[in-house]
Amino acid sequence: HAKSCGRNNFQYYISAMSARALDVLYMENALHTALDNDEYYLEYQPKLDLKTRRIVGVEALLRWDSPQLGCVMPSNFISALEESGDICQVGSWVLETAIAQAKVWMDAGRPMVVSVNVSARQFKQPDWVDEVMALLDTAGLPPGLLQIEVTESLLMDGADRNEAMIRALTQQGVRVALDDFGTGFSSLSYLRRFPITELKIDRSFVVDIRKNTTAYKVIKTIIDLGQALDIRVIAEGVETPEQYGLLAEMGCDEIQGYLLSRPLSVPAFEAFLDNFGGGQVAACQSQDKLQ
Ligand code: C2E
Ligand code: MG
Ligand code: MG
Ligand code: MG
Repeated sequence: HAKSCGRNNFQYYISAMSARALDVLYMENALHTALDNDEYYLEYQPKLDLKTRRIVGVEALLRWDSPQLGCVMPSNFISALEESGDICQVGSWVLETAIAQAKVWMDAGRPMVVSVNVSARQFKQPDWVDEVMALLDTAGLPPGLLQIEVTESLLMDGADRNEAMIRALTQQGVRVALDDFGTGFSSLSYLRRFPITELKIDRSFVVDIRKNTTAYKVIKTIIDLGQALDIRVIAEGVETPEQYGLLAEMGCDEIQGYLLSRPLSVPAFEAFLDNFGGGQVAACQSQDKLQ
């Protein structure tokens, strides 16, 4: 009798929890076991240099192939990983996997700068810079082929330590991009202070870019700022030839977005590279493409 009573208490406890809390518990558990079960994988989205018209890098984007839920996108699970703290372990796996992939491409004679997104929680680990350098060393990848993408909000909390970490990374040759640029605060003071190597203009500006709109002027200002500070500027979320044309005209260094390619599996990205040439660039530029 005691047993069933205990069970009833447990059931009462469960039913008193919100469905949302149960979802979170379920998700956190599933996300935890996902690492051991090999359910995570990376997709790679190419970045085009507008001047050389070459693919110069890729952004590694995390995917979760859940047996119960199917393919889950990061917007639906990164925050749960951050709350449980598992983002640190998963983030280490992302770094290790992306670094190993960058080494494979380098050895194949196609060097790519591989960008990896980093959460604040990961960045706050005491020995994180040492871990990154050790992973590069073990893989035999030159630090210049790795880029870390951080956000302004990540930098703002604990600025002194963050400054030291970014300086340590860049002094050893690792590149550091400021992701979603323009959506945070204190952009100018942080840019002056941190040795950032690339600015990524947030997609929300690119979506609204049309000649003489506010978004156009903001983007132009970011590009000019990058030129003044000698920081490369990339626009993310480029979807139309019109956006491409305006960005090229304004002197943007690189673009990333569905116009060029969606994020791809390794074999699909390699096939994309094999077939990439003037044709794709012309298609990107062509105003007729979407008409
Ligand atoms: P993000 O770093 O700003 O990545 C760009 C996001 O925009 C990606 O979404 C990408 O698929 C999407 N995107 C690229 N081009 C276009 C386009 O032309 N149009 C539209 N509508 N979207 C485009 P995704 O893969 O869902 O990633 C979302 C966010 O999740 C990322 O934003 C990043 O903040 C986070 N994330 C992804 N992978 C990781 C990871 O390994 N670690 C951490 N900590 N965060 C990650
Ligand atoms: Mg990013
Ligand atoms: Mg971004
Ligand atoms: Mg973004």
